[in-house]
Amino acid sequence: MKKTRPPARTEGGAQTAESADAKVAKKNIRTPQLLRGMKDLLPRDEYVWQNMFLKAAELAKAYGFAQIETPVMEEAALFIRSIGRSTDVIEKEMYVFEDRDGTKVGLRPEFTAGVARAYISHGMQTLPQPVKLWSFGPVFRHDRPQAGRYRQFHQLNCESLGERDPIIDAELIVIAYNFLRDLGIEPRVDINSMGSPQDRARYVEELLGYLRTKRAYLCEDCKRRMTKNPLRILDCKEAGCAAVVEEGPQIIDWLSEASKQYFMKVLEYLDEVSIPYMLRSTLVRGLDYYTDTVFELFAEAPVKEPVEGESDTEGAAPSSAQSALGGGGRYDLLIEQLGGRATPACGFALGLERIAAHVRALQGMHDPATDPDRPRIFIAQLGEQARRRALHVIEDLRRSGLIVRHHLGKPSLKSQMELANKYGATHTFIIGQKEVQDGTVIVRDMESGIQETIDQRKIRVEAEKIMKTKTVG
Ligand code: AMP
Repeated sequence: MKKTRPPARTEGGAQTAESADAKVAKKNIRTPQLLRGMKDLLPRDEYVWQNMFLKAAELAKAYGFAQIETPVMEEAALFIRSIGRSTDVIEKEMYVFEDRDGTKVGLRPEFTAGVARAYISHGMQTLPQPVKLWSFGPVFRHDRPQAGRYRQFHQLNCESLGERDPIIDAELIVIAYNFLRDLGIEPRVDINSMGSPQDRARYVEELLGYLRTKRAYLCEDCKRRMTKNPLRILDCKEAGCAAVVEEGPQIIDWLSEASKQYFMKVLEYLDEVSIPYMLRSTLVRGLDYYTDTVFELFAEAPVKEPVEGESDTEGAAPSSAQSALGGGGRYDLLIEQLGGRATPACGFALGLERIAAHVRALQGMHDPATDPDRPRIFIAQLGEQARRRALHVIEDLRRSGLIVRHHLGKPSLKSQMELANKYGATHTFIIGQKEVQDGTVIVRDMESGIQETIDQRKIRVEAEKIMKTKTVG
């Protein structure tokens, strides 16, 4: 045999010299850290997140919603005009910056504004109404990170645009409710009406008149809110403010007859489908664009989700506002405010990190070895020829819709068996040098240890048989 110097040696040698350099350099290299309030979704989260997406897609299909994904970055003005300049989201939390062209852009702090913009810019008014759209993706708020509160988090968002009918509001609540129910969470719906802008203006006047007489009892933030956004005082968490609010006027008493009728209809439809709800007169939601129905969803049994890398105080149990799993409402004026034709609309957003925390608390960590839908066959191989054969087997099976597990590196047969057990494989197909030559494969029953040799041409039939017999566990 002709002797040549193996290239791997040369490369290896070079690597050794490089890694010595790297070691010296490494001392001065600071690994960039995850930004505060940001979170990696790790492989261990995959099961819960994929499941949430699949459930969302299933529900969307059932209720006739089509998926839309708008960009995470839009003109900052879109969010400011939609959500309202004096809301917390815009005043304190939106990521705004100038891009390289000097355009003032914002990272979306929620979906509705972008979806409304897309509805106008793609002429969706000409489609049969309502246009029902759903999205699933990240949103950004520069909030103070703590339990259940991140700076990048994800929402499932549904919007129904183009029709004003209480049954639309009720349908959206039903969808949000069912999404949580399908994931095993027992939801509670809090609901209120903000009436028309005229109702709201009359109520705000009344509320301010009342609050002026109680100013001394309000926190500093709420004193400021009196001039900027008095409705936000209603959901202030300070005990003093809450006590003042409790004695004050309630928006429901200031609704016009038409607004009241509309709200009553929404409640009747919810009764019709037995969705439990609680009237909460202080529920106003943080954004300016809502009219009429507003709602929030909670879990009957809240869980605490710690924030990695945060101190205990910051990771304290979430307050009730933080434990809301989602919320939404009607926004009949938004599209017009953005320059579109007057278009009534209604929608909701659910916070997926908080929902994932509940699902994990309810189900525990997902164990791939006991997943009823796991691949049940592991392909083990020994030797170069067998590895090549295994490549074909895996590919042929995949083309027939049969997914198998494998490790095509050079592990020992023993460690491949251990891996097969870890994955919960019920059978391992073993291909060694001899099997390659004979055109066979050994089928090992992982529980009994019984092995039989079959013809390689029968692999697919054998695999189908095994996949069909889904034993429990
Ligand atoms: P909002 O429109 O602010 O009510 O947000 C809708 C839902 O998104 C909330 O009910 C939460 O479940 C979730 N959410 C809002 N802010 C955050 C945040 N900073 N971190 C994680 N989830 C959030």
